[in-house]
Amino acid sequence: MDERTAFRSTTQHMLKESKTYASQTLMGGLSGFESPIGLDRRDRIRALRTGDIGFVHSWDINTSVDGPGTRMTVFMSGCPLRCQYCQNPDTWKMRDGKPVYLEAMVKKVERYADLFKATGGGITFSGGESMMQPAFVSRVFHEAKAMGVHTCLDTSGFLNRNYTDEMIDDIDLCLLDVKSGDPDTYERVTGGILQPTIDFGQRLAARGKKIWIRFVLVPGLTDDEENVDKVARICLTFGDAVEHIDVLPFHQLGRPKWHELRIPYPLEDQKGPSKVCKDRVREQFESYGFRVY
Ligand code: SF4
Repeated sequence: MDERTAFRSTTQHMLKESKTYASQTLMGGLSGFESPIGLDRRDRIRALRTGDIGFVHSWDINTSVDGPGTRMTVFMSGCPLRCQYCQNPDTWKMRDGKPVYLEAMVKKVERYADLFKATGGGITFSGGESMMQPAFVSRVFHEAKAMGVHTCLDTSGFLNRNYTDEMIDDIDLCLLDVKSGDPDTYERVTGGILQPTIDFGQRLAARGKKIWIRFVLVPGLTDDEENVDKVARICLTFGDAVEHIDVLPFHQLGRPKWHELRIPYPLEDQKGPSKVCKDRVREQFESYGFRVY
């Protein structure tokens, strides 16, 4: 996996602009989904709670980026965190997404089921924060599993409590962002707290799920040696569940979105990590016995 591909889970929308990525993408945006009509605010809230509808930012079909094989990645709207390095601030507000019926999403999975099975792929829910709409995501996963389709949840784990053990049972693989190992740094990076991520990783491990860890490397923010050691030690508590760690070097593909949305961008002048820094952090994780990309 090259560096640009590895970073993709948090830079999805920007990478669509690159020629290489365009050649991997079969379609995208929100094509193919009819929006529910005639639902008032109360109906929508009720349908959101039951998972009859979900608010979706966009979706696409891609290969070997958000999990194994050819995948349908669905970017859900809404996120409770405010990461300084967020590449998709346009997904933060759930109401900015488009409401999509559960049946329409399941039908879409069904349409590609043979392709997924042939390539070892499946469906990935990303965001935003996919666990902000647990009923919708878990119901789609349940239907996907019934079709024999591989399921992958891309999450920060911050909303650990939103997801029941039964919901976890329908996840095959989790792309878990461990954004920092030090609680204070985590708060500085995201505005949230670290413990729910640790709890979610441990619950996944206890239920026999596979985890790919994602760690975004930002000089002066997350690259501190002690912080990296703490991330590694957290990952050790997930045991054999961890298949590898993706070290994702920060870059500026998300900057135009912050400008467009007129949100003050804290990493305006951040240049991203040097090769020396990337090598040191990868070696640190390797020294704990992890496979690192
Ligand atoms: S978890 Fe952080 S990086 Fe991901 S969408 Fe939310 S704010 Fe952005």
